[in-house]
Parts: sequence; C-alpha cells; structure tokens
Amino acid sequence: MAKETLHREVVIIGSGPAGLTAAIYAARADMHPLVIEGHEPGGQLMITTEVENYPGFAKGIQGPELMHEFREQAARFGTEFIVGGINKADLLKRPFTLQTDDHIIKAETLIIASGASAKWLGIPGEAKAPHGLGGFGVSACATCDGFFFKGKPIVVAGGGDTAMEEANFLTRYASRVTVVHRRDTLRASKIMQDKAFKNPKIDFVWDTAIERILGTPEAGVTGVNLKNLKTGKETLFPCEGVFIAIGHTPNTELFKGQLEMDEVGYLITAGRSMATNIPGVFACGDAQDSFYRQAVTAAGTGCMAAIDAERFLDNLPVRLPTGDEITLDGERVTADHEKIVLPDGEIVSNAPDSEAARGD
Ligand code: NDP
Repeated sequence: MAKETLHREVVIIGSGPAGLTAAIYAARADMHPLVIEGHEPGGQLMITTEVENYPGFAKGIQGPELMHEFREQAARFGTEFIVGGINKADLLKRPFTLQTDDHIIKAETLIIASGASAKWLGIPGEAKAPHGLGGFGVSACATCDGFFFKGKPIVVAGGGDTAMEEANFLTRYASRVTVVHRRDTLRASKIMQDKAFKNPKIDFVWDTAIERILGTPEAGVTGVNLKNLKTGKETLFPCEGVFIAIGHTPNTELFKGQLEMDEVGYLITAGRSMATNIPGVFACGDAQDSFYRQAVTAAGTGCMAAIDAERFLDNLPVRLPTGDEITLDGERVTADHEKIVLPDGEIVSNAPDSEAARGD
C-alpha cells in the first residue's frame, strides 16, 4: 500500500513531557503540530508510579495519569497524533522528510523530543509490574523515587557518576545505601568517588553482579541475589529498594551523521535556544539533556523549542550552537551581533542606525 504523505509546519518526535509541552505551545500558537508518539507513548513517566515533584499536583499524581493529562491538553488545542516510530529521517534540506511505516511526513520545522532510555540489567524482578517490581521498589531515578525509601536499606547498581550521585542523594532518606559494582574500581570521576567513599552511609560490594530482585508488589522489594564474579559465591542480600544506575541511552540513533551530538549521543543545542546545528531542527527533553533529566525540565525545554520553532517560522532570528543566529530565509546574524550575512553572501551592518535597520 502506498504511504500517505503529510506536510506540516511543526512536527514533534516524542510524546513525553518535552514533546507534549512543545505540542501544547505549538498548537496554541496555531501551528497545528503533528506528534509522532514513538514506540513508548508517554515516555519514561509511563513506567513510574507516584510522581510527587511535578509542580501543580500537591497530592502527587501517577505517572501514566500525568501523561494522559499532558496528551489531553495538547489534543484540546488541535494537536494531531500518529502512533509508532520513525524509520528514516532526512534533515539535509527543508522541508525535512520523515518516514514511518505508513506515512511520509514533510516538516517545515522539526522538534526532537525522543527522550532517553534508562539502561537496565535485564534480570528477573527488574521489569515494570506486573512482570517485575518496577515501580514497587525498583527504580532508575533517585530524584523521582528516593523520597519513598525513608529509613530503608537500598542497593544501587553501577559504578559511574550517575551511580555515585544517586547513592549520595539516596543517603538523605535511606538507612544504608550499598553500591553493587561489577568490577573492583569505579568508572566515576574522582570527585564523585571521593564524595561516595566519605559518606558514612554508603557501603560498596565489589566484583559483584545482581542476579535477581526479590519481593512482591504487595511487600515491595525484600532483597537481591548477588553473585561474586571472581569467586562465583552467591549470597542473599536483604534490602527494600533497588536503584539501577548503569547509564542512559538517548534515543537519537536515527540522526547520527546529520545532527551534532556528544560522544554518548545527546543532541547538542545552542544554550540560549533549543536549536540544533540544522536550522529549523530543535531538540528538547532528555534527548539533549544528560544532566537534569526531570519531567519538569523536559517540559520547560519543550516549551522553549516550540517558541523557537514559532520564531523561526515567523522569519525571526534563532540562535544556533555556533552563537550565530539564523532566519528561515537564511539570513545569518553573526555571534557578535554586528553583521547580517544575507543568503547571497552580501554582508550588511546589524547596527540599529544602519540603512538596513531603517529599511532605507
Ligand atoms: P557510565 O557509562 O559512565 O557508567 C555506567 C556504570 O554502570 C559503569 O560503572 C558500568 O560498569 C556499569 N554498568 C553498565 N552496564 C552494566 C551492566 N550491564 N551490569 C552492571 N554494571 C553495568 O554512565 P553514567 O550514567 O554513570 O554517566 C554517563 C555520563 O554522564 C558520564 O560522562 C558521566 O560523567 C556523566 N554524569 C556526570 C554527573 C556529574 O558530574 N554530576 C552525574 C551523572 C552523570 P563498568 O565501569 O564496569 O563499565
């Protein structure tokens, strides 16, 4: 069957807090956004239970319910949705071309909010309930869930900066935090290691893999089965929470070779805008943020990306990662704001009293 071709001013990839906030703003600005929801509609909050740190919900809200509200709000202003993922993206010329199983989508501007996925160990007990204890004592986000572990012993898996940061953070709540690492040295930076080693509430178990997480949804986590990878010795370690902190993978593989990204794959944006290196392509949320990774920060950058797309479609200058600013018509304002390079290469002054500025 031939694929249907759609042409839209604003196309948003991803339907977590970043993508749906971008949709709310773009829809209210009459830009008729199309959201391609991805293979995990709603993003990481769909595998979270109670969300207590999203502003505006004094009593907390379940992750899936929060994402339902986001989606309804975006739909209310006319956002269109396509379920499924993108197989191919051609960003070399505008309109950008995206392909799904059923559609060819032409986009005048593109907002990438494809998120990041926490890496998991792939062990029994780790999956989201009902298949495992995910959401019932197993988490990949200390900032989100640490609060629920007041006075409880917790295990953290991993030996990088994330694991050290999460372990340190969790000592605010936990009775003890035990870091279980598969080697006998940490990958984390020295300063993060030092902070963890100095923290009297953190213990380390070296050369060890977590083989299984034990418990029930009713009782929560009750312990983990550990295996020493040097001696082969297996032990049962009692704990009431397990935080998996072995890294994240940004969902940006599709854009490799087209968009600038760091060595892990996080998209690089301008700083004072959400623009990528390709004019008209913006990125927001966890696809470009390895640091904060919160629903509220993702939503904030989603709002910024939509405002940037709106400015770009209005032919106003939008800042690129180089510091230059660019318009839809291809006028480039230099990073020092002194000159405008026109699409034909002519350079004019950007000074307020110049002829170009007066419209002479
Ligand atoms: P990293 O890839 O740096 O570390 C992952 C850790 O998890 C490693 O110790 C690794 O073990 C372990 N691991 C990976 N897979 C498995 C597995 N299957 N089983 C058991 N253990 C496993 O990821 P991070 O998220 O820690 O850091 C990502 C980037 O973000 C880094 O550049 C980091 O510096 C940065 N960051 C900085 C922070 C800060 O400065 N405050 C905070 C958080 C992150 P092994 O060492 O054996 O490979």
